[in-house]
Amino acid sequence: MSNTLSASLRGSLFYGKEKFKMNKYTKTELVANWQSLMRTFIKPEDDASRLVLIKYMEQISFGLHEFLGKHVGITEDVGLKDLSSRFKNTLISKNPEKKLTDVITEIVEDIAPHAVNVASPYFIGHMTSAIPFFMVHLKTIVAALNQNVVKIETSKVVSILEKQILAKIHRLVYKKSSDFYERYVQNIRTTLGCFVEDGTLANITALWVARNRLFAPKNGFTGVEQEGIQAACSAYNINRCVVIVSRLGHYSIKKAGGLLGIGNQNVIAVDIDADNRMDLDCLKKTIREIKHDGAGIVAVVGIAGTTETGAIDPLPQIGALCSENKIYFHVDAALGGPTLMSEKYSHFLEGIDIADSVTIDGHKQFYMPMSCGMVFFKDPSIMDAVKYHANYVNRFGSVDLGIKSLAGSREANSLILDSALKIMGSQGYALLIEHGIETTRMFAEEIERRDNFQLITRSDLNILTYRICPFDIKRRLAEGNPEQICIINKELNKINRVVQRLQREAGKSFVSRTKLRTGSKPEKEIVVFRCVIMNPMTDIKILNEILDEQEEIYKSNFDELVKSRFCSLHDHFGRN
Ligand SMILES: *Cc1c(COP(=O)(O)O)cnc(C)c1O
Repeated sequence: MSNTLSASLRGSLFYGKEKFKMNKYTKTELVANWQSLMRTFIKPEDDASRLVLIKYMEQISFGLHEFLGKHVGITEDVGLKDLSSRFKNTLISKNPEKKLTDVITEIVEDIAPHAVNVASPYFIGHMTSAIPFFMVHLKTIVAALNQNVVKIETSKVVSILEKQILAKIHRLVYKKSSDFYERYVQNIRTTLGCFVEDGTLANITALWVARNRLFAPKNGFTGVEQEGIQAACSAYNINRCVVIVSRLGHYSIKKAGGLLGIGNQNVIAVDIDADNRMDLDCLKKTIREIKHDGAGIVAVVGIAGTTETGAIDPLPQIGALCSENKIYFHVDAALGGPTLMSEKYSHFLEGIDIADSVTIDGHKQFYMPMSCGMVFFKDPSIMDAVKYHANYVNRFGSVDLGIKSLAGSREANSLILDSALKIMGSQGYALLIEHGIETTRMFAEEIERRDNFQLITRSDLNILTYRICPFDIKRRLAEGNPEQICIINKELNKINRVVQRLQREAGKSFVSRTKLRTGSKPEKEIVVFRCVIMNPMTDIKILNEILDEQEEIYKSNFDELVKSRFCSLHDHFGRN
């Protein structure tokens, strides 16, 4: 048996043929019986297969990383339609189909080559990027220990460690005194924050707390958590409640609106200034109007690094306004939070310590594997507003982290972050973050230097947007009236959409695309390329190659078209 196994495992794992070879390894019929089942709970069946597995794990830990460094292809030669036609069998087989080693081979040879190579330095379209290789090992350990941090009975020291790491990040954000942390780091009645699945759940948790704080129990009313939003509004004599965020707010804020009974149409989008930051006058006006309307404000959300443009809202001013008006202030620093570790750039996040709560994603600039979100609270007791107990677990007075947590069972992500911080030091992270910010700056300069491109947004962080916009057209845009500008933009939108798609399909590099509004009207939307520079291997040379490729695609597909179109636009404008 083990001979067949090793025979099927021989050869190169990661650079093998890329065709699908479903079921090719299944030679002998496998059966599910009690004996083999017991073995899967103990260890590989014999020494030979054990060695094979170790070899495989070694290649997964190191080789897969190498694999990710070699290919980029979001779309290789096999398209999505083709792929989906191969995944249509909806029956669970009664007998085992494959042995573990065969399953691993299949993943490595048949699945991985068709997955997206997010670790490539040419992959600069999203906040998902390369991770240090040790993260894979840490994740494996977490799986092997399989602690459930919902309660102390299934995690013991790991829950205690989680409280410590939460306090460390809390200290990075809020910079309270040593006495404060001495008092709260292991306090079983309080909590400085919590781990959640992602940034979305972190924002939802923060707004859940904010909602319950707005509708706290009072005479004859036991609180919104118990009585619901309708009873809450009548108890507080208001007709509705809202959440305020800039119109670049992440859509998770809207989800929170829906889930928490606030209504996602009551997530009010405040306009932005020329730098894509929340406009303070608009915010003041909105607060005034909402109050005048007799509505309640659950929270104002400031963003430290908007998802689309990387802009950081004016946190000190928003914070001051919130204090003045006694409004809950949440900061969504899902992306930007770890910038606090850079002595050079932490000042970008000035004012974050005024926030009642702060969201930070572990899988973004803490470079953790998918997925990890965190939310921190200034007041160690505020999470009491979302406390739940159960008789068999999370009993009154226990240390169980599940008492104040949206999730029930969850993995020990804290172990990964704690270890990563030990391996990297804040200085290690600072280097990564500074590289992202500084490379993005160089990239912006390069875009501005090139005639065929137009830089659309830059920010303090590692995100920028730009588009293809040939020199002549740029002039036209500068001279045109609103109607003409609208026509040109529509044309450019088509071109940029196609260039982005063709580049993605070529599979060498990936830049994402989004639509930004240049004015308050939807027809003023422009299609832009969006870049997030996170991978330390992404340098200006690679970014130049990406621009060259886009320019190439543009020239070979659109140059003629734009010239002819340009002539008609010229006619449209009349001669000048
Ligand atoms: C990424 C992001 C989120 C959501 O994070 P997920 O982890 O994808 O749920 C929320 N807010 C901002 C500003 C983000 O950049």
